Amino acid sequence: MECPFCNPDKEALLYEDGLIRILIDSYPANRGHLLVVPKRHVESWEELREEEKLALLRGMELAMEKLRGTLKPDGFNVGMNLGRAAGQTVPHLHLHVIPRWEGDCRSPRGGVRKAVLDLEDENLNLRERWVRNRLSGEEIERLRAAFSRK
Ligand SMILES: [Zn+2]
Repeated sequence: MECPFCNPDKEALLYEDGLIRILIDSYPANRGHLLVVPKRHVESWEELREEEKLALLRGMELAMEKLRGTLKPDGFNVGMNLGRAAGQTVPHLHLHVIPRWEGDCRSPRGGVRKAVLDLEDENLNLRERWVRNRLSGEEIERLRAAFSRK
């Protein structure tokens, strides 16, 4: 299977430079869920070069800035699933930037700490969320335009 981050869907690609890409997540946990990935195919944090680590943080800032300017979130969850035990399914390291809005869930308390909860416990319907959280074509265009501005 082709790596989805080495060969990203053109529609999903928002930004690219020498070291990183910013992509729209295909299974969004919330509206505007983006991924920052190193261009080089590496699975683990330890394999990254220092300049790539810094570029990922720069990409996180850029993603948050562009999301603030377009979708106006009230906050963000940022995180990485490093290793299979932590839920990593695509073996190409990626940083999730998930915009959050006041009231988008009943109990935001805990944030990324909830990563250890079983989804069944929360009675979530993931597939329904993925569909509901997809951005409209117009929203994607606004986001794309924001990334093409300086
Ligand atoms: Zn890859």
